[in-house]
Amino acid sequence: MSAYQNMSREELLQLQETLNAQYQDWKAKGLKLDMSRGKPAADQLDLALPMTSVFRQVSDFKCESGIDCRNYGALTGIPEARRLMADMIGTTPEHVIVYGNSSLNVMYDTVCRSMVRGVMGNTPWGRLDKVKFLCPVPGYDRHFAITEFFGIEMIPVPMTENGPDMDMVEDLVSHDSAVKGIWCVPKYSNPQGYTYSSETVKRFANLRPAAADFRIYWDNAYAIHDLYEEGGDKLEDILAACEEAGNPDMVFEFCSTSKVTFPGSGIAALAASAANIEDITAQLAIQTIGHDKMNQLRHVKFFGDIDGMKAHMQRHAEKIRPKFEAVWEVLERELGGLGIGSWTKPRGGYFISFDSMEGCAKKIIAKAKEAGVTMTGAGATFPYHKDPQDRNIRIAPTYPTQEELAMAAELFVLCVKLVSVEKLLQ
Ligand code: PLP
Repeated sequence: MSAYQNMSREELLQLQETLNAQYQDWKAKGLKLDMSRGKPAADQLDLALPMTSVFRQVSDFKCESGIDCRNYGALTGIPEARRLMADMIGTTPEHVIVYGNSSLNVMYDTVCRSMVRGVMGNTPWGRLDKVKFLCPVPGYDRHFAITEFFGIEMIPVPMTENGPDMDMVEDLVSHDSAVKGIWCVPKYSNPQGYTYSSETVKRFANLRPAAADFRIYWDNAYAIHDLYEEGGDKLEDILAACEEAGNPDMVFEFCSTSKVTFPGSGIAALAASAANIEDITAQLAIQTIGHDKMNQLRHVKFFGDIDGMKAHMQRHAEKIRPKFEAVWEVLERELGGLGIGSWTKPRGGYFISFDSMEGCAKKIIAKAKEAGVTMTGAGATFPYHKDPQDRNIRIAPTYPTQEELAMAAELFVLCVKLVSVEKLLQ
């Protein structure tokens, strides 16, 4: 297929007519499909159903340290759950606090605590004139929503296949003491599915921040979410790298079992240095007497250990891999060689990142919506919802059924073609 850019005006007008007719046919179907959020489909949730019946007798509620998990106690989590979550992100249990049902909640809490109480004895951010966060873009909209909510200035940093532009990160972090953090999704990033290289992790660990309370917000949400049994991406352990670089306190790592068991009913964890853990637990002890230990124990009983958890993730992969492949097949077949879009092909995670021609993303999403397919809003992957080039679209293939997804993908590529032709005719 020849690139749209090489077509004459007459050819483009003719093509527009054909595409418009196809679009009207799609609209007449009255579709109602959702490709907007990275949610597991119901058949994925079914995989963890046996977890709800792991308790059979009173003795089952005792954890390794002898605590009755039906009662108060174990502020930082039960030992076996700390071990499981540590194994999930490749660290050791003493670094881990097991929380409640959501890692996003832990991230919000961590920023909030820094605002009102400060980080390890430093001035609370709420008392400073200016606080800034670096935001690799495109990135996760809910991260940006947290920093926006607290009035923290967000500075976009371009992403590459190996992670954020580290020259820019090093420069900003080392020269500006108002820069207090950076949002990172280091493995199978949301939305591109990129994994930070060893070199990037090393450069992060060796940052020399101007601010003593600068922290890397390392959201390892997709640590074990490989699409293929062999050859998943490898991510270095940031905590160990920071320790080795003499910066043990510089990172907060987050994770959860939201897309392992049940989103909203999984367990979340934070991993950090001993000094950070001490600082955090001093506040946590005021905030709660302890999180849901029955759920922690339920997870451990269901998986046994990290090998059980990884085997479970392969069952997820079997269900979602064909969905990713179906989207890629349509993108390649319909858009390959046209020069009007590019997309990522990650080996894990929950998203495909699509870049249209400049100035087209909003219109593509509006067109898809008009014909019944909801996508993540254009601009959502940038701070303040402002994609300066209006190009990036996040595709979330997991939630629709295979049939729905095939239809949604066909309609999506049609919208991309239509809007691109309109743009070239301007
Ligand atoms: N972090 C990232 C990068 C995500 O993509 C998501 C959900 O899509 C979350 C965190 C939400 O995690 P939780 O359900 O643990 O709050």
